[in-house]
Amino acid sequence: MPVQKVNDSSDLDAKVPSHLQRTSITSLTMTSEPSHRCVKATVVHKGPVISCAQKDGIEMLRAEIKEEDPLQRTAEHTSINVIFFGTLAKDFSQSARQGDVVLLADFTIKKSPSFLRDKLHPCQLEMDGKDACVYVCPSAAPSHGPSSSEAKYTYVPLNDLKPKTVVNVYGVVTFFKQPFPSKGSDFCSTLKITDQSDVKVGCNIFSKKLEDHPVIFRVGDIIRLHRFKADMFRDSMSLLNTFGWSTVTFDGTIDSPVVPRTSSKSFHFGESDIRTVQELRQWAANQSWISKDLTVSLSLVKPGMYFDLTCQLLAKAVMDSRCILLKVWDGTKCQHPLLKVAVASDALEGESTVAKDRMNLTANVLVYDNHLEVARDLKPGTFLQLYNLHALLQRAPDQQPDQPDHLSFHLHGGTSYGRGLRSLPVESPALQSLKSVLEKHVDLDEYDEVNDGTLLEIWYTPPEAVEADTGPSYTVLTCEHNTRRLTLARVKHSTPPLSCHVQARVKKYMPQQLYQCLKLFCSNCKTMEDVPDDSAVAKIFRESAKDNQACDEQWAATSTASSREPGRTISMHISRDMVGESTHMQLIFVEGTTLDEICVLSRDYKNLVPVRSVNGRMTLMDLTAPFLFSGDKRCYGCKQCSVNTFQNPVFTGVETWDEQAVAKALGVQLMQYRLLIQFELEDQTDTLEAVLWENAERFFHVSAVDASGSQDLQDKIQTIMDTIQPPDSSLEERPLLDLCLSVYTVKDNNRNKVCYQITNTEIKEE
Ligand SMILES: [Zn+2]
Ligand SMILES: [Zn+2]
Repeated sequence: MPVQKVNDSSDLDAKVPSHLQRTSITSLTMTSEPSHRCVKATVVHKGPVISCAQKDGIEMLRAEIKEEDPLQRTAEHTSINVIFFGTLAKDFSQSARQGDVVLLADFTIKKSPSFLRDKLHPCQLEMDGKDACVYVCPSAAPSHGPSSSEAKYTYVPLNDLKPKTVVNVYGVVTFFKQPFPSKGSDFCSTLKITDQSDVKVGCNIFSKKLEDHPVIFRVGDIIRLHRFKADMFRDSMSLLNTFGWSTVTFDGTIDSPVVPRTSSKSFHFGESDIRTVQELRQWAANQSWISKDLTVSLSLVKPGMYFDLTCQLLAKAVMDSRCILLKVWDGTKCQHPLLKVAVASDALEGESTVAKDRMNLTANVLVYDNHLEVARDLKPGTFLQLYNLHALLQRAPDQQPDQPDHLSFHLHGGTSYGRGLRSLPVESPALQSLKSVLEKHVDLDEYDEVNDGTLLEIWYTPPEAVEADTGPSYTVLTCEHNTRRLTLARVKHSTPPLSCHVQARVKKYMPQQLYQCLKLFCSNCKTMEDVPDDSAVAKIFRESAKDNQACDEQWAATSTASSREPGRTISMHISRDMVGESTHMQLIFVEGTTLDEICVLSRDYKNLVPVRSVNGRMTLMDLTAPFLFSGDKRCYGCKQCSVNTFQNPVFTGVETWDEQAVAKALGVQLMQYRLLIQFELEDQTDTLEAVLWENAERFFHVSAVDASGSQDLQDKIQTIMDTIQPPDSSLEERPLLDLCLSVYTVKDNNRNKVCYQITNTEIKEE
């Protein structure tokens, strides 16, 4: 039996037949006399059994073995390729595993054809002849505890990495990015590691599953990588995960417990791992780059700084679709006044921060873009690490000119410089000092409870300048924002996003022709259009009725009548599917009418779709005109989003035909009616342009679609506007309006434009 197993590494030496002489792999050359020599080494790679075409299909297996003598750590060519042929290949494949120690005897030495590529060894060993034999000592019996698996993995120092080899390594993290979505459905982690050799090696990990990515909290953490491929990338060595890869990370703090962080349930971890981690911690503590850990406490933050912050989440609020506010603290007092961001109390998730705000302990962190996904899932109370946070001076909305600017914190979009955030487990060593600082503030919580009300009062009392303007308001606020009223001048100097309250009068509004405030809005492509006026629609009807030949569709039953004009025929079609059904009078296609005629008809029929014929086929009219007359309502379709498939329409299966059902059957994207008014507001300090858009229907207590078909409702809007801004009145005569404003930015030609929108405000109903 050419492959023999032994139980213990020391047995290997004993089992070696006395006529064999040990040789070190480094000393092997092409001219070495191979007979009666043996080598002892660890299997670091074992390939599959393949059949070799050049040798008449004989089976072969390639393995890489590495000599484990610590004295030769720095020696060259400690690894060598071994090719097994024939039954040896099969036996070796079955008996030996990666990590096993093997003893090979009676090999032949050949020139390595892959030396230029893999730089392993100029020679390779071939196990072919009948004398060749292999002794295998398994690295660990599977039934033993984790410590017995120590010999299983060999770790390559980072200065020993060879291109195109698959290795296991240990390193200290000197740079990292949290996993971010990469091409396809993978997430990518990017890091740089180093070890006692002082060589820095980049590393990329691609994996679909977020939980498989290494759990790195800070620079100085220690990471173990298994089955990573070393290769040259842009002139430097880098590592990439390969099949069967895994990672385990450890905290880098000296003397903290060595606790592996990994999602893997079956990982090997033993005494030698603990030793390696401790050695790396000790070594890293004396390295200069370890100060690259940019974690800074709030008390040391300076304006303009980018830094990492270890903190606890107190509360959070979604500001808009691309920004989440995190209220955090680390127990230290910032030397600069901290910016307060006002949010509705019902939008705030978490505890009240009023007492901490007052002591300048709460940092308001605005988190943007790609970081929202992580921020959204955070629960108040969680400990956090924020990376590459930007401290910025801003003017607070209620700031006096002589007061210093306030410090705000932004986690900008992107992942440059490792920018990101992650939650830290409670037992994390990095949190020990933070937790002891926080405990010193335990009295603050009681303070919060007892004095919350009084504090609120002090905090939100409007400044005197605004007080003077206070009077009965023509509007009421429906929000629960705990924000004090600001002057327009201060709103203009504040930094979005922000919700705030103002009291102002209307200087001007647009459009002056109020029917123009009715707009058509496509929720799909966000197109907004004016409602076309009757003369334009009437023209489209007249042109389609001209020279009209009644269309003839298989699916339609048609009746015709002559119009008053000679030569023009009015046709009405209904779907044959619907004949005999209760719904058959609910949807009628009308051809050849004028706008006036269809308006008259619409009093008697629920849904009228104006159509025309093109070469005998029924077609919808130009979508500038309404595609449907539904009682008083005229429904319009979006020209961009409607597909207008009117070949073989299906009209079965609908119980009640409303505009949605008709639009769906015709392939039309229904446009919504909206109200849009632009106000120019004025108070004693400034003027400001604000739109009334999303909140318009609530503001007037009028639905836009109803207003489109009702003169009464349009008159109601006109009356309200005439009260807000009576014609020919002076500014002082106009009523005061309490308004809730939402301040936000929109991208306009790649520039950020600040917008003001009136929200949460209604006209007082008598
Ligand atoms: Zn559209
Ligand atoms: Zn409000």
